[in-house]
Amino acid sequence: MKLIGAHVSVSGGAQNAPANAAAIGAKAFALFTKNQRQWRSPPLEDFAIAEFKARRKAFGYEPKAILPHDSYLINLAAPEKESLEKSRAAFIDEMKRCEALGLELLNFHPGSHKGLIAAADAVKLAAEGINIALSETKGVAAVIENTAGGGGNLGSKFAEIAAIIDLVDDKSRVGVCLDTCHLFVAGYDLRSAEKYEAVTREFASEIGFKFLRGMHINDAKADLGSRLDRHESIGKGKLGIETFRLIMNDDRIDEIPMILETIDESIWAEEIRLLYSLIGAK
Ligand SMILES: [Zn+2]
Ligand SMILES: [Zn+2]
Repeated sequence: MKLIGAHVSVSGGAQNAPANAAAIGAKAFALFTKNQRQWRSPPLEDFAIAEFKARRKAFGYEPKAILPHDSYLINLAAPEKESLEKSRAAFIDEMKRCEALGLELLNFHPGSHKGLIAAADAVKLAAEGINIALSETKGVAAVIENTAGGGGNLGSKFAEIAAIIDLVDDKSRVGVCLDTCHLFVAGYDLRSAEKYEAVTREFASEIGFKFLRGMHINDAKADLGSRLDRHESIGKGKLGIETFRLIMNDDRIDEIPMILETIDESIWAEEIRLLYSLIGAK
């Protein structure tokens, strides 16, 4: 089954996310478990944790359908010692928050070398950061998101993500989240059956579908290979509806959260219905 959802608001607390997801007909959702623009947030309160767990169940969301996203400030590949230490501590905190909420996944961007160190060294730093966080937590998998690739960001190529995974000790707790907009602007063309087949074959051989734990379903405002991370509503961007039809009919992508991060949240319910309508469409 395809689990389509969106990155919903946690205004008032993480416990409000399940109802916000249910209100738009989502079968999956993403959320921030803390303020994503601050280094530190107060710990989750026992009340919020208990309410989150109760409402998650009441609204019928399994942990595998929920894809928390970490703070944008965290850079596990940071070349500067201070920033790296801060990032590692914040990443552990994010993993612990997911663990406290009874969740299984934490989606994050692998980090940026900022042009200050070699990409291969940044890959090692990112893997080390993941290993440290996994050793200090239980049950939560680190889910590496592919990136648009600008600004020294790691993870715009499958081979680079594979290199990070290769250095992670516990392979059962590392995964990948593929963002369709990021794929496209990083140079992976998905706009026809032939091209989609070629890209997914490359993903299968370099990383493997068993590592695919989530997707971000976004159309793209920018061109193929432009490295510009600008999301667009489904069917209104350069990727177009055919890309999403191919994804919705791909049996290798099932039972994982497929999250809209599109720009107009007032049409998320409509976009979810549109995506489901593509199943079986020719
Ligand atoms: Zn994304
Ligand atoms: Zn993006």
